[in-house]
Formats: sequence, C-alpha cells, structure tokens
Amino acid sequence: MKCPRCNSESIDIMAKSPVGDVWEVYLCDTCTFSWRSTEGTNITDPEQYDKRFKLNPEEFDTLAQIPPIPPLLKK
Ligand SMILES: [Zn+2]
Repeated sequence: MKCPRCNSESIDIMAKSPVGDVWEVYLCDTCTFSWRSTEGTNITDPEQYDKRFKLNPEEFDTLAQIPPIPPLLKK
C-alpha cells in the first residue's frame, strides 16, 4: 500500500472498526496523512489523489511553516 499524498510505502494501521472487519484507518509514517479504507478512490488511490495536494518527502525540509511565526515585538 502507498500513501495517497506522498507515495511512501511506510504505512501503519491506526485503527480498525470495533465491530466486524468493516474499515481500517491508515497512517503514513512519512507525511502523517491518515485516511480510512472506505473513503473514495480520490482519497485512497495515490494516482487519483488531487495532484494539488501531493507532497514530495524530499522537499519537507524546505516547506514553509504554516502559520509562519512573526518576528518578536520589541518593547
Ligand atoms: Zn504520506
């Protein structure tokens, strides 16, 4: 399985449905994206995930912090 957002293959199962084997929630070790197995393929399939929201792990160190921390006020 691949992370839909960053294509990492380092995925953990975060939760399973308490009754039956109905759904699972996965967590990406690389970008911390989480998704449920029963969501649509636009969320679960890396190929169909909205390209505007894809992340490249190699760029993580250069991404802006959101929200940016403003400079300290001088008194
Ligand atoms: Zn990821």
